[in-house]
Amino acid sequence: MTPSILVAEDEGALVTLLRYNLERAGYKVYAAMDGEEALLVATEEKPDLVLLDWMLPQLSGIEVCRRLRSRQETRNVPIIMLTARSEETDRIRGLDMGADDYLTKPFSMTELLARLRAVMRRIRPSLAEDVVTVGNIEMDRAAHRVKRAGKGIHLGPTEYKMLEHLMQHPGRVFSREQLLDAVWGSDIYVEARTVDVHVGRLRKALSADGTDDPIRTVRSAGYALEDGAPATEAAD
Ligand code: CA
Repeated sequence: MTPSILVAEDEGALVTLLRYNLERAGYKVYAAMDGEEALLVATEEKPDLVLLDWMLPQLSGIEVCRRLRSRQETRNVPIIMLTARSEETDRIRGLDMGADDYLTKPFSMTELLARLRAVMRRIRPSLAEDVVTVGNIEMDRAAHRVKRAGKGIHLGPTEYKMLEHLMQHPGRVFSREQLLDAVWGSDIYVEARTVDVHVGRLRKALSADGTDDPIRTVRSAGYALEDGAPATEAAD
C-alpha cells in the first residue's frame, strides 16, 4: 500500500508544489482547500498523515486538528501543522491540540520529507520502513522482493500490492470491498470475486512449499493476515 497524505492548504501554488514532490517521493496525495473539506476527506479517505495549514478558510487548522483528534476514525492520524507563524506560543498551541510536528513556512521540500519520514516512523513504523516483517514473511519494498522463512517468493503485481496492504495491518480483517479499494483504487470497477481470485493466488504463492496458509478467511467478513500464528479457520 502506498502511504497517503492529505494536504489541507488553501494556497493553490503550494498545493501543486507539495503534490508534485510528495507524489515523486512515493506518496498518494489528497488535497483539501478549506477546513470543512479537510475533515471530510480525512474521514472518507483515511489518509496515513495530514499536512495541515494553520490558516485555512471555513475552519482554522487548529480547529481541524482538534476535531480530527476528537473523532474515533481520525483520532490517531499523524498531523504535521504548516504555518507562516513562528511564535513559540502558536507552536505550543498546535502541539497541545494534538499535532505531531510543526513546520514554519517557508520550508524546504527536503526538510518536509525528512519530517514526514520521522513522524511516520515514530507513529506507524511499518509505513516508513523498507523492510516489513510479519511472522516469517518478509517484504523488502525497496527491492520489491518477498521472502517466506528466508525463501524467495514470486508474486504478480496485484498479489504484491495485496500482501503489502495486509502486512501493514497484521491481524486486521479486511472486507473484499476494502481490499478492492486498497489494491485497485476506489475509482475502478472490479468485481468482488476478483478479490477472491487474487487472494487465492497469494495464498498459493505463500504456501507453495507446503507451509501453513497465513491468510485467514473470516466468513462473510473478509480476509486477514495472521501475525505468525497458523491459520485456524478453513478457507472458503
Ligand atoms: Ca493558508
